[in-house]
Parts: sequence; structure tokens; C-alpha cells
Amino acid sequence: MRRKGSSRRSVPRKSTAFLDVPNNTGGCPEDEDEESYRLRSFSFTSKGVVNRGDSFRRRRSRSNSLVPPHILTSPPAPDGTPPTSPIPVDPQPAPEVITYRVAMIGAPGVGKTALVSQFMTSECINAYDRQRDAPKEQSVFIMLNGEESELCFINLANPKEELDRTDPPDAFVVMYSVIDKASFQRAETELARLQDWDLVRSRPAILVGNKVDLVRSRAVSSQDGKCLACTYRAKFIEISVGISHNVDELLVGILNQIRLKLIHAHLSDKEGSAHWYKSRGVVRASMKARQMFTWLFGKEDSKFKNCENLHVL
Ligand code: GDP
Ligand code: MG
Repeated sequence: MRRKGSSRRSVPRKSTAFLDVPNNTGGCPEDEDEESYRLRSFSFTSKGVVNRGDSFRRRRSRSNSLVPPHILTSPPAPDGTPPTSPIPVDPQPAPEVITYRVAMIGAPGVGKTALVSQFMTSECINAYDRQRDAPKEQSVFIMLNGEESELCFINLANPKEELDRTDPPDAFVVMYSVIDKASFQRAETELARLQDWDLVRSRPAILVGNKVDLVRSRAVSSQDGKCLACTYRAKFIEISVGISHNVDELLVGILNQIRLKLIHAHLSDKEGSAHWYKSRGVVRASMKARQMFTWLFGKEDSKFKNCENLHVL
């Protein structure tokens, strides 16, 4: 039995218990309906970050009523089998969603635009296409650990001029390309500036090495990336937007880091955290010592390891 093409805008329902595969021929539903937004859901388990798929939610009306989301996509299953249970829907009116601003910093061409485009959806974008001009700010709504947050990504091509130090963003993603040494040096300059401006003591900074799919062209080792991140007390992750490697982990990691820093700042408010700050020279010297220790004993100390764990402070 074949169905005639429906003129309805919504995704046609199939008579299976499985989630419908998104029908994208009509374009992006967000563009069609400004009343709804895409909500990306994740959970964090012992196996790591699990993508629970995307759904559509009606924007809150003035009466604060929440219409059950229209389930749009299923999370990509590693073995190709479709998921069997639909995304749980909370019928209760949700509390206010907090918006966090995340600055995207890095040399031109490292993949900032491609990354934010991939953050927007669980569907695979083609990152290898040249990225067209995207808006300077793009929001992603994320449900994580039962709490919804909005991450607003701001492309800061030139933070020196564009960053408002009196009203800084809540987190910084400093990005380079592992095939571009100059972009790595630029990342160091940017991290140094953030530290000099005292912006990263209470806000997370994450150093991101993109394009790890281009193995043969690699010009920056993982070890160098990790060292740089540790020097500035930033988190470190290597990704490939092109092959969707670690993209969900990074997205969830950014939100996790923001939440953790906020909790930590709240707890240590009274204690004061003056002891935290060390001059850049001292930090670098201690990093050198740490590297030496690593070479001598073939082991990495726990702080060095922790810089790759985006789920702890
Ligand atoms: P931006 O200037 O930092 O915003 O960089 P873009 O997002 O415009 O990406 C620059 C180029 O790098 C584009 O041609 C992308 O297709 C490409 N690109 C982005 N991410 C990856 C990746 O993970 N692997 C590869 N091989 N190319 C990528
Ligand atoms: Mg761009």
C-alpha cells in the first residue's frame, strides 16, 4: 500500500512504533514555524554522552503552557537499529530556561561555523561543504540531566575588538585546526588574552583541536594541544566536525562545564579563591616540570589527565 504525498507540513506518521525519519525535503522546520524550536536531548551515563535525539517544542506562550513536542528525529544508533522507545515528554510546564552565551574564538578556517551548524541538529550536516555565512549568533536548546538550557553561540572573529569585557560570555571555546600550526599559535594568543583579562577564572575555557580526520596532514600533536590547555587551565578535546567525532561530547561538555563552574563559584563564594590565580610564568614553569615528570615516569599525573574530562572541573 502506497501513500500519496501529503500536502501537510508535518512529518507524515508511519504505522510503526518507531520514530519517524525526518523528512527534510520541505526545508528546515524551524524556518517554517517560528512558534517551535528544536530541543536536543542528551544523557550522561557511565558509557559517556548518549544522544537521545531531537524533538520539537512549542515556544512558551504567555500562559506558560507547554505543548508536547513533535518528535522529529531519532538518535543515530551505532549498529543501525532504530530506537524502540520514543523520547519521554514532560507534560508539566517547564521552568524558565536559562540562556548561557558561549564565545567561539579561533583563526579563520578552523571550522567554527561548521561546528556550530552541527551543534544545531542530530542530523549529519556536510561539514566538508564550504560553510556559507551563518548568523553571528545561533542558539541550541539542550535537555541534559532533566534540565533544559539554551546555549547561544557567538562567533567572535576578533575577540580583541569584539569582546565586551564588562559583559563577558559565560564560556569560551578556543578552536584551532590540527593541520594548521598557525591556528594553534593563534589559539595560544587568545587563551593568553583571556587569562590576562581575568575572564577564565570563573568561566570555562575549552581548547578544541578540529579536523582530526585529516590524519596525514596533522601538524599539531595531541600532546601539544593538551599541554597548551593545561597551561591555561582550559579543558581539551580533539574533534572532527567532518566525521562527527566528539561533537556531541563537546556540546554536552560545554554545558556541563558551565553548570559545574557555576556550582563551584557558588560554593566557594565565601572561602575566596585568591589562591587559584598564578601568574602565567609560574603556570608555564610548573607545566614544564609536569612534562618532565611525564617523560621520566611514563605516567601522566591526574590533573594532566583531567583536562580531557569535560565532566569534572
Ligand atoms: P571558520 O572560518 O572557523 O568558521 O571555518 P568553517 O566552518 O567555515 O570551515 C572552514 C573549512 O574547513 C570548510 O571548508 C569546512 O568544510 C572545513 N572543515 C570544517 N570542519 C572540518 C573537519 O572536521 N574536517 C575537515 N576535513 N574539514 C573541515
Ligand atoms: Mg565562519
